[in-house]
Amino acid sequence: MERTLSIIKPDAVERNITGKVNSMIEDAGLRIIAQKRIHMTAAQAEEFYAEHKDKAFFTSLVDFMTSAPVVVQVLEAEDAVARYRKIMGATNPAVAEEGTIRKTFALSIDKNTVHGSDSPESAKREVSFFFSEIEIFE
Ligand code: ADP
Ligand code: MG
Repeated sequence: MERTLSIIKPDAVERNITGKVNSMIEDAGLRIIAQKRIHMTAAQAEEFYAEHKDKAFFTSLVDFMTSAPVVVQVLEAEDAVARYRKIMGATNPAVAEEGTIRKTFALSIDKNTVHGSDSPESAKREVSFFFSEIEIFE
């Protein structure tokens, strides 16, 4: 079993569709083994997205992720990282596959509804960024 870190982003929380996103996660065979609603600080968002700090969109990404509450989650499944990336769909919803979360719900390349870890190594770092082991129940 593998874990991955998911974030339901402000655009989805504001539209009150976190349950619809969770249904798609569960229908794909991923189990939500930890979940909480938080409002990220700028410092948290900057550290979480540090790999993108030199990108043109970094400031707007941090502004967006701190604009409203998000739901952070730990998902578990066999090959959870790849399985979640597949049902998330491409970063840009305009090119995401039919039936993916981003094709279904995302508003734009920045307001794209969900985050998912991009490798098992990132997943370990990202899960422990938001959760302590005593908050996770398998
Ligand atoms: P992903 O979330 O699919 O792993 P990235 O790690 O490349 O994508 O980017 C992180 C986030 O930054 C994206 O989900 C999106 O919200 C935002 N982003 C990425 N590329 C752009 C862009 N060209 N313009 C605006 N925002 C972007
Ligand atoms: Mg990424």
